[in-house]
Amino acid sequence: MLDINKVLEKLEIKSVNNGVSTGLKSWVGSGDVLSSFSPVNGDLIAAVNQAEKEDYDKVIIKAREAFKIWQNIPAPRRGEIVRQMGEQLRIFKNDLGTLVSYEMGKSLQEGFGEVQEMIDICDFAVGLSRQLYGLSMHSERPRHRMYEQWHPLGVVGIISAFNFPVAVWSWNSMLAWVCGNVCIWKPSEKTPLTAIACQKIIKKVLHENEVPEGVSCILIGDREVGEWLAEDPRIALVSATGSVAMGRSVGEAVAKRLGRSLLELGGNNAIIVTPHADLNIAIPAIVFGAAGTAGQRCTSTRRVIIHKDIYEHVKKRLIRAYSQLRIGNPLDVNNHVGPLIDKLAVEQYLLTVEKVKAAGGKFIVEPKVLSGGDYSSGCYVAPCIAEVENGFKIVQHETFAPVLYLIRYENLDEAIAMQNDVPQGLSSAIFTLNIRESEQFLSCSGSDCGIANVNIGTSGAEIGGAFGGEKETGGGRESGSDAWKAYMRRQTNTVNYGTALPLAQGIKFEME
Ligand code: NAD
Repeated sequence: MLDINKVLEKLEIKSVNNGVSTGLKSWVGSGDVLSSFSPVNGDLIAAVNQAEKEDYDKVIIKAREAFKIWQNIPAPRRGEIVRQMGEQLRIFKNDLGTLVSYEMGKSLQEGFGEVQEMIDICDFAVGLSRQLYGLSMHSERPRHRMYEQWHPLGVVGIISAFNFPVAVWSWNSMLAWVCGNVCIWKPSEKTPLTAIACQKIIKKVLHENEVPEGVSCILIGDREVGEWLAEDPRIALVSATGSVAMGRSVGEAVAKRLGRSLLELGGNNAIIVTPHADLNIAIPAIVFGAAGTAGQRCTSTRRVIIHKDIYEHVKKRLIRAYSQLRIGNPLDVNNHVGPLIDKLAVEQYLLTVEKVKAAGGKFIVEPKVLSGGDYSSGCYVAPCIAEVENGFKIVQHETFAPVLYLIRYENLDEAIAMQNDVPQGLSSAIFTLNIRESEQFLSCSGSDCGIANVNIGTSGAEIGGAFGGEKETGGGRESGSDAWKAYMRRQTNTVNYGTALPLAQGIKFEME
């Protein structure tokens, strides 16, 4: 049986009175208490004091002071410090992964996987710290040298969602740090403890390296704290992960002050299954994508677009696969599906079910809220499947729960058009062994999403690629490839090492 107090103790988080002793100087909370309940069993894990506006201002000052020092530490040395953070995460992988699973409700394997993702991005960032390359160009003027270099931005604000309570922060912060920025993290108010645990781990490394702890700051609070970050011109970049509604609000506030934002918002991800699909890999990919993490991934599979000739067969196989799903405590490795994050999410699930029925959709795997015994938290629901039309208003909307839609198609042009015909553009996939079909799907007139996979589901990604999506998903890119450029400012430099002052484009400006 899990003893969560032991896990918290190992992570050096001690509950005191009705708050949490964090021992973090650059996290100050003097406001109301925020309680963190586990969706697994409904227990109160701990209570944390939220940041007030005065706390916020103190944190900003601390971060700006730290930036003056951190930006001048050579990038490879910053990389070495990030390498040490990765080492600490390796040591705490099991405890932090367990807390992720308990506080957020994802399976233990996925909790460990999330911490592994943090370790992977540390490794990536270490290499990157020696590769923050700029280009050099040939000047049109004699005895001139022209090149570009990349400088840090300053203070980066990171607003994160509950469903990846730690990985998304690390994608941002590890890159931002090697690039020379300092970070202020506003985690989801639904998962404050995992965030505090991360801070504790990171602070230790900063102290050991005699680096100011303002390099890594945390502000616990609800959307209001996120709004402060979005509106504050002292925050050079606001990287925000969450719902489209949140992104719209943050994007607008940051644009109003002509700041930079990086938005990672909701998805409405589809898998196309053609007559040439290998169903032995397509079916598990669909089931993992739709029911895994109880449908609470930004990349969760929401729609399956199936060719008419194989539709009934795929439907039968999915019904059979769903009947084998085990729903229950995510800390028990025998279970496939854990709880939703809270009862509000259960209400959204039920509302969606009503809307699907009202629009004329038909459930072929019935929705259900589970209660009693192991389900006493009231957050467990059954993954369900409905036959729908792509144009239904509810199908166009991302419901953050395990509701899967089946849609029939006649030809691939139509399937791709349906896959694209939603406001969001995050992840997409096709299952086919036919190269013409897969290449059409990947061509410029194919999938319009930031992620397009062949014979791999929509859910999950490796840190090496740039992660993000188009349209209402926000257009941001994080993690691998050259996503680091979002955390730096480009400066073009021209140096004249001659004795004359020639002007560009041959312009003459002669004086006596
Ligand atoms: P949410 O939008 O409710 O909250 C996300 C974060 O934004 C929280 O920290 C919240 O306090 C803050 N916030 C909310 N409104 C705000 C505002 N107006 N100004 C500033 N901050 C604000 O999202 P959630 O329920 O925590 O997460 C689920 C959503 O996140 C889904 O839509 C999912 O698709 C999306 N998501 C996207 C990605 C991605 O990379 N594209 C990754 C994970 C989650």
